[in-house]
Amino acid sequence: MIIASNFKTNHTRESTKEFLNTLNTFVKENHIKDDILVFPTATSLDNFNLSSNISIGAQNAYHVEKGSFTGEIGTEQLDEFGIKTILIGHSERRDVLKESNDSIEKKYNFYKELGYKIVFCIGEPLEVRESGLQEVLAYNFAQLENIDINYENLIIAYEPVWAIGTGLTASLKQIDETLNGLRKSIKAPLLYGGSVKVANTKEILEIENCDGILVGTASWKVEDFSQMCRIASEL
Ligand code: PEP
Repeated sequence: MIIASNFKTNHTRESTKEFLNTLNTFVKENHIKDDILVFPTATSLDNFNLSSNISIGAQNAYHVEKGSFTGEIGTEQLDEFGIKTILIGHSERRDVLKESNDSIEKKYNFYKELGYKIVFCIGEPLEVRESGLQEVLAYNFAQLENIDINYENLIIAYEPVWAIGTGLTASLKQIDETLNGLRKSIKAPLLYGGSVKVANTKEILEIENCDGILVGTASWKVEDFSQMCRIASEL
């Protein structure tokens, strides 16, 4: 299982450190072996002394080593902390920050060439979900059209846009049908994301083609995220 936490614009350097220390102790004490990914804010990236199954990733980085790209970071900054994991295509970056498909593809190809583990997010808006499963699958596959889905370090996160940060979780049937449809052409691990919380972690992780979860809001409390990791380890 892969259990991932996206901090978005939350936590400081200090509270990130505390979060990771507490999580690390919990993981060790409970002998959790699942892959845990944590995506802190760019300002909280650092060298942390963590169990080998806990990785730190960047929520975003530009497709450069370094240069004149105000407000962005590149691999020079990520290398300082040995970061080799990145989130690409999150719906908040696509919709709120207007990141284009072209930019997403460039980032994907750049970080793929460097061998990064890439968590690539896809997901449909509500009007597409309301049109039916075939439309949902067509929309999600279109978001994958120009990326190499056979890349060995790719993880795909299916995150319906209408379920992100809204408290609305897709139904188990919706998640199951969508992941089944994606699985027909995708070998990469498939995560579900969208208002996952401790209470629904087990039933979501039990879905046949669900290889893990990407969690925003409910993961910011280390006690809750730790419980999600424990639930995954017991399946
Ligand atoms: C996310 O940010 O990827 C996410 C799924 O957020 P939330 O859990 O808050 O819906």
